[in-house]
Amino acid sequence: MLLFSDVAAVFDELEKRSGRLEMTDILAELFKKAKGNEIGELVYIMQGIIAPPYSGIDVGIGERFAIDAIAAASGYTKMQVEENYKKSGDLGDTVEKLLEKRKQTALFTSEMNINYVYDAMMHISIAGGTGSQEQKIKHLTELLNNASPLEARFLVRFVLGRLRLGVGDPTILDAISVAHAGDKSLREPLERAYNVCADMGYVAREFYKDPKSIEKFKVQPFKPLMPALAERLSTPKEIIDKIGKCGVEMKYDGLRLQCHKKENQVEIYSRKLEKMAHMFPDIVETIKKLKAKEIIFEGEALAYNAKKKRYYSFQETMHRRRKHGIEAMAKEFPLNVFVFDILYLNGKDLTNEPYKQRREKIKKMFRGKILKASKSSLVSKAEKLDEIFEESLAEGLEGIMAKDLAAPYTAGKRKFAWIKLKKSYGKAVDTVDGVIVGYYLGRGTRAEFEFGGLLIAVYNSDNGKLETVAKIGSGFTEEEMRELKEKLEKIKTEKAPKNLDYNIEPEFWVEPKYVIEVAFDDITISSIHTCGKKNEKGYALRFPRMAKIREDKSIKEITTSEEVIAMFNLQK
Ligand code: AMP
Repeated sequence: MLLFSDVAAVFDELEKRSGRLEMTDILAELFKKAKGNEIGELVYIMQGIIAPPYSGIDVGIGERFAIDAIAAASGYTKMQVEENYKKSGDLGDTVEKLLEKRKQTALFTSEMNINYVYDAMMHISIAGGTGSQEQKIKHLTELLNNASPLEARFLVRFVLGRLRLGVGDPTILDAISVAHAGDKSLREPLERAYNVCADMGYVAREFYKDPKSIEKFKVQPFKPLMPALAERLSTPKEIIDKIGKCGVEMKYDGLRLQCHKKENQVEIYSRKLEKMAHMFPDIVETIKKLKAKEIIFEGEALAYNAKKKRYYSFQETMHRRRKHGIEAMAKEFPLNVFVFDILYLNGKDLTNEPYKQRREKIKKMFRGKILKASKSSLVSKAEKLDEIFEESLAEGLEGIMAKDLAAPYTAGKRKFAWIKLKKSYGKAVDTVDGVIVGYYLGRGTRAEFEFGGLLIAVYNSDNGKLETVAKIGSGFTEEEMRELKEKLEKIKTEKAPKNLDYNIEPEFWVEPKYVIEVAFDDITISSIHTCGKKNEKGYALRFPRMAKIREDKSIKEITTSEEVIAMFNLQK
């Protein structure tokens, strides 16, 4: 039986380490202790969640309620808890300190195992309706009553959604492999399984039941896949040189939807795998009418105005939907879904079929008014590709997406199966999607919004670190500044994100959460930024400016340091 005290001791150890290898080994030792009925729960807790993201089950308890529970469990008053919190800046540290000095005398503590803790967390998460806040506080107080100070530190951070162990999904997968095989040889099949169901707890459970099952892991309706990602190149010639004859599709600037159907049941997932069916009643109805009994497909949804022959971008579409309401918009500017991939059909996992075959199915199946196949052509010459690219811009689209005819669907990966070619911003080579890790306050005219700029990082997939690549001070509208400031204030942290490599410090650090698209002129070598750093020199964006907030993108999808280096090399 895995005790939560052992888990907390490992979390404490992990916090003191930063190297991916040593963290993997520490975790692997813990995973060896877990049984088949514990590993799933342990993995979720490590990820800071209680169930896969698409389940919609969040632990999220507000600070106020956590303070109530801490006061009840420690015997201090709420005011005393708040005072300590003001000093420490972290309620996890506060509860630890206060429990060490626990005032209550009649103390009852019993050892908690991982399943007990998980079940209590689940109760806290799903308590709803009237009196639910009291229920949540009661469950949390009970947990804290039984907890040691160290356990309490992590319990409180967990319920607040701020566990932040600095252990990413790749490290957890490595550690599961090391725990079982002694090395990372099983990382790849484990990662593929994770990518086709986006539920690491489930994968770990299945793996502990039967390690071989992981190799035959199949796509299933209502278990969304991690979306395949696109690489980028900057000229048609580079694309043809890289993948030869390919399928060239229009790149629609809409909202990516992953649609699942089984019998009469339909669900739609966003790019971040949140459930979205309730937002698209018109699309849901159309999917229900599809002939296929079971199907999973992906497409880009955007509004089209047939009179003006014009597409509306994602931003415009959403803005209009908010203003006019879903019903009215559905009539006036019906959403079209341009279907660009099919992943599963009537019991058959299609992700390993070559794109060419999947495309044929799409062409046959999606010819409706709302659901239609994305526009695509077979191209083997750079000149032809360029023509289609120009055509897409003329139609008000973003550019094109070139697809390798032989490639499988690369769930969760960027593998040159898809290559994007986008319109450039002014002189800019391209854009980078980075995550905000810190911000600065405004001066002069901007003091009004108290917002002055952002520190942006990209992801180094070799060592699992975030690395800074730009400090952005322009490109924001006033509305964006206000919106950003409000959002960022809520996720301020005392310290820099644990897995961030940095040389400069912003005025405020924030939890890496919001992705933004950054336009820039070119890429330079920098001694300030740490992106792709070698011999104290990194890479940085020159004249970076905000293009847009990408709320549809998760932090897993940000540009990698390797991509920034590749863009730098392309410049030359
Ligand atoms: P980006 O967001 O710039 O990295 O480009 C990748 C995104 O383009 C995908 O996530 C889709 O949402 C979108 N997209 C638009 N049209 C297509 C298409 N024909 N094929 C694949 N993805 C597309």
